[in-house]
Amino acid sequence: MAVKRARSTGAAVKRARSTGAAVKRARSTGAADRPQPSAAKSKSETERQLEIPSSLTVNQLSQLLGLSVVEVIKQLMRNGVMASINQVIDYDTAATVATDFGHEAQEKPRSAPAEEMASHQRFLEEDAALLQPRPPVVTIMGHVDHGKTSLLDAIRQTNVIATEVGGITQHIGAYQVEIDGRKITFLDTPGHEAFTAMRARGAQVTDIAILVVAADDGAMPQTVEAIDHARAAGVPIVVAINKIDKPEANPERAKQQLADLGLLIEEWGGDVVCVPVSAKKKQGISDLLENLLVVAEVAELKANPHRPAVGAVIEAGMDKTKGPLATVLIHTGTLKLSDTVSVGDTWGRVKAMFNEKGKRVKQAGPATPVAVLGLNSVPQAGDTLLAVADERKARAMWQERQAAKQQLAQAPGKLMSLDNLYTQLSAGAVKGLNVVLKTDVQGSIEPIRDSLERLGTDKARVRVIHSGSGGITESDVLLTIASKGIVIGFGTRPEPGARRIADLERVDIRYYDVIYNLVDDVERALEGLLEPTYVEVIEGHAEIRAIFTMGKKGKVAGTYVTDGKVSRGAQARILRQGESIYESKVSSLRRFKEDVTEVATGFECGVGLEGRSEFEVGDIIELYRKERSS
Ligand code: GDP
Ligand code: MG
Repeated sequence: MAVKRARSTGAAVKRARSTGAAVKRARSTGAADRPQPSAAKSKSETERQLEIPSSLTVNQLSQLLGLSVVEVIKQLMRNGVMASINQVIDYDTAATVATDFGHEAQEKPRSAPAEEMASHQRFLEEDAALLQPRPPVVTIMGHVDHGKTSLLDAIRQTNVIATEVGGITQHIGAYQVEIDGRKITFLDTPGHEAFTAMRARGAQVTDIAILVVAADDGAMPQTVEAIDHARAAGVPIVVAINKIDKPEANPERAKQQLADLGLLIEEWGGDVVCVPVSAKKKQGISDLLENLLVVAEVAELKANPHRPAVGAVIEAGMDKTKGPLATVLIHTGTLKLSDTVSVGDTWGRVKAMFNEKGKRVKQAGPATPVAVLGLNSVPQAGDTLLAVADERKARAMWQERQAAKQQLAQAPGKLMSLDNLYTQLSAGAVKGLNVVLKTDVQGSIEPIRDSLERLGTDKARVRVIHSGSGGITESDVLLTIASKGIVIGFGTRPEPGARRIADLERVDIRYYDVIYNLVDDVERALEGLLEPTYVEVIEGHAEIRAIFTMGKKGKVAGTYVTDGKVSRGAQARILRQGESIYESKVSSLRRFKEDVTEVATGFECGVGLEGRSEFEVGDIIELYRKERSS
């Protein structure tokens, strides 16, 4: 098979890189409008003093200030700084904002781990001269039963075991094959779900996706999903038309269906490589591998092997005899025996490493999968591994990460939502809106997608990165997280697992039944005109135990606060047998004839409500306030 091709693969290979993006600072704000320093007004002098680290994200700053991210981003903008929620800003920039809000800022002494992280970030933009070609990392995707597992096995058998006399392969989550003296790394877990789950956790390890399409079955729903997931990640696709040994195989029909999905193969004038194979008969395997190498070459995959290792955990578990065992795919650098490593929520020292043949190895370079022994506990798939100077640093990094995690868990609002779209667009944090669209019926997809994509402008593109009919699935939500987008459900709802992840990861899911409303909301969001959505926060309940008539003022309820608190001005609703019968507001609040602003649980008080006061003894007053959901 001659593989001479001068090709320009459409999709550039993008790596998930945590570059501490430089913040553009053009501070020419002579008459910047200062915010109301209301947040700091009531605080004592000592509380005003604020220790700010030498660098931090906008989100972390908002946490420190006790303000919403939006407020902080707005203030940054007034100061001439365009920064997104997760962008790293320096002390000076943060201190200016803190001062604007009435704080006295102080720089927190720089800790060792922060420096370590910074040096890793520097390394990631390493000297081009040190970069060397590295093997591609390949994931197999496709519809169920189209032969993903069979193809992985066929590749492994034809190219690994054949060269190893009596070699026993060990399952470590990935393996490498060699062809013409060049290596290719395959991830063992096929499917776009695993691929996107890793991406949602911040680890994009795959360079090329093989899309398996069974020649007898053609493009099926998960084929479409796989294409969308690979595209959203910017990973080039190589098509393997499988099962060509079957009498009923119809490769031409499969190619036509792929073309309809926008995947135009080379034979038909496109730039997508397509190789016919039979995993069962082991036909076409080496042709497929050669083509992968060509695509890899076009992508110019490189890494610097002469630096401390950075990798991603692709599998991890507890080995009964050996302890925590993690397969790590090295991204850049070389991992060596007895290196100290920081890995997600844990750390350790590399005691031993094994390759996929179960053989002990002393080091592992870029794109090499290796099982690592010596971690203190089991990390999670998607965790980043960093080789660090010593245990003290690993421990300190762990502590920082815990703190960061806690802050993130407490941060209010959605990470990306229609409500904050405009702010994020203005801040340059996003270039448009990524939408995962699920509808009740197939027929609704086209009109909605068309109307949505038509709303986009040069500055703010609306992209439907995936669409389909049926419930909102876990993989939809994961794709949304990985793409920093939102989910739109049209006449459809999330499956329980999907809802759980969406809640946990604060993904914005919008539900509609009328196309007009959907399009209108997105249009307003793009223009920054969308009314923010509010969520109700229950503040407390008070039981009505007596009614007093106060002349012209009407009636006052004598109540007992059963939980939470009652405060003047709070929203209130009257519940009778659990049902809301009346909505109002607390207009007066008294304890022993004294006007008060707040009454806590376990106390009695007199509550007056705005408007008609239609309540009875035995009714419950529910107190709540409304908060912006983002
Ligand atoms: P997966 O669900 O995509 O992992 O698919 P599997 O690898 O489990 O294969 C599904 C079925 O298709 C199995 O019964 C395989 O034996 C069969 N199969 C896979 N590849 C081929 C092939 O090239 N030719 C034929 N005839 N059958 C195949
Ligand atoms: Mg399988």
